[in-house]
Amino acid sequence: MSKNHHKVIIIGSGPAGFTAALYNARANLNPVIFEGMQPGGQLTITTDVDNYPGFENGIMGPELMDVMRKQVQRFGTESIYAEITEVDFSQKPFKLKSYDDEYAADAVIIATGASAKLLGIESEGKFMGYGVSACATCDGFFFKDQKVLVVGGGDTAMEEATYLTNHAKEVHIIHRREGFRASKIMLEKAQKNPKISFILNKVVKEVVGVEENSIKKMTGVILEDTKNGSTEEVKADGLFMGIGHKPNTDIFKGQLEMDDVGYIKVKPGTTNTSVEGVFAAGDVADSKYRQAITAAGSGCMAAIDAERWLETQEG
Ligand SMILES: Cc1cc2nc3c(=O)[nH]c(=O)nc-3n(C[C@H](O)[C@H](O)[C@H](O)COP(=O)(O)OP(=O)(O)OC[C@H]3O[C@@H](n4cnc5c(N)ncnc54)[C@H](O)[C@@H]3O)c2cc1C
Repeated sequence: MSKNHHKVIIIGSGPAGFTAALYNARANLNPVIFEGMQPGGQLTITTDVDNYPGFENGIMGPELMDVMRKQVQRFGTESIYAEITEVDFSQKPFKLKSYDDEYAADAVIIATGASAKLLGIESEGKFMGYGVSACATCDGFFFKDQKVLVVGGGDTAMEEATYLTNHAKEVHIIHRREGFRASKIMLEKAQKNPKISFILNKVVKEVVGVEENSIKKMTGVILEDTKNGSTEEVKADGLFMGIGHKPNTDIFKGQLEMDDVGYIKVKPGTTNTSVEGVFAAGDVADSKYRQAITAAGSGCMAAIDAERWLETQEG
């Protein structure tokens, strides 16, 4: 095999990619993992992770991903800190390109994740993990008996808000219009919930908070009225983005079957995509659970699927 030809190339270094690498490395497949523009994946932008099994007292997101990387490196996995910019799955071995090199792979595991859509304002990034969150299932527990805001008018916002009422004292949905994209059933469920109220025709202009001795905490938001441009400050302990997710699949368009949103379709109960020898794991193929542990679980499945598929190709 030439220097850049590998048995397995894994694209993405979140929980799915690292778990796939761990299993493939221990099966002597010498996997190579492309870490992409966010080495360690989505958990590197959060603080406490309390729901990943094995950490009695929880663990910080970036630390968890560091431990995963060290674990796969112990078994000889090579990390390449580059992004894959182009793939060709129409020929075997499969061809992949980064900005400055070309690679070939007998099997490919796609673990490129999904990105929570954010507002794109600087203060949102500053307080991410310190009041601002993009995942109610992950962080709702930290807001027991507190006041939280949810941004959005679609199903994601209604689902996040409804879930948050299990923990928070009050939940306010902030939406830029009076009409909703959410399905009738999800909207009605939120409207009937006594803990949920709606703040309409408003957008979040700024997240405000305090920062002392490197300890940060969000304290509220500045809202702007979309009709008359007036602004007001609303106090709150948390702000959840409920404006959806975008799977990172642009480079695979036209080569793999995807759903309407761009999630990669896999055959039920497997990680097999529409191209034999190409597997997908984690959030990139999962619009439903979107958790680190489910991503890791499907990363394990992809590694085993790839290993067994490679065995069928031998000789
Ligand atoms: C703020 C926040 C807090 C969260 N908290 C929790 C929590 O407490 N518990 C929990 O279970 N889940 C939590 N989640 C969800 C969890 O982070 C995801 O479910 C999980 O990270 C998905 O893992 P993944 O491996 O599928 O992809 P990701 O973690 O999204 O990783 C994707 C990887 O793919 C790489 N990549 C993308 N495109 C390319 C490319 N073209 N070439 C090379 N590499 C590429 C990226 O660089 C990245 O390394 C949280 C999410 C967010 C946003």
